[in-house]
Amino acid sequence: MSTKGKLFLILGPSGSGKGTLIEKIKSKHPEFIFPFSVTSRKMRKGEKDGNVYSFVTKENFQSKIDNGEFLEWAIVHQTNYYGTLKKPILDAIDAGKVVIREVDIQGFEMIQNIIPDDQLVSIFIMPDSVENLIERIKKRSKISDEEVERRIESSKNEIKKSDQCDYIIYNSDGKLDRAVKEVDQIIAKEIN
Ligand code: 5GP
Repeated sequence: MSTKGKLFLILGPSGSGKGTLIEKIKSKHPEFIFPFSVTSRKMRKGEKDGNVYSFVTKENFQSKIDNGEFLEWAIVHQTNYYGTLKKPILDAIDAGKVVIREVDIQGFEMIQNIIPDDQLVSIFIMPDSVENLIERIKKRSKISDEEVERRIESSKNEIKKSDQCDYIIYNSDGKLDRAVKEVDQIIAKEIN
């Protein structure tokens, strides 16, 4: 009998440092699987297609929905489509791998109905304070005022629902390495 892997979902509001934290885990653990998601949002400066995201048009995203390619998908910040692909994730779990992916709360709720509890771990990255979070969101590369407002709105909603997650990790300014260490310890505990 082969061992089953686990899917670790990283949640948290925009600006909580999820992306950087995942990058750090990736450099420490090249043996883990970090599947990209599909999104209809525009590529930002410094991003690479097929790394964290595959960037597609809304029409292309819709055809993937119609073909049943997604494990989950959602409209995030009331604007763009984001979705995790079913096949790479299920194949990696079946192959006994540790799979790590960032999703929003809507995606998490959909995945909870599909992946069995013993193969799913959710970790919420909590910002130190809402004021600092808002500052970080505002500093994000060239996003409009409306976009900032939408992100603040969904951040508040995400934080409200954080207790649905298995773990909550606090990521204070300048303490990213501590948060990375805590996530690393959770993963080690969950797979042993
Ligand atoms: P950003 O546009 O800043 O890269 O991501 C915005 C938000 O989209 C993230 O904070 C994350 O919560 C969510 N997100 C990223 N990938 C996925 C995904 O594959 N599915 C879902 N449901 N949400 C995602």
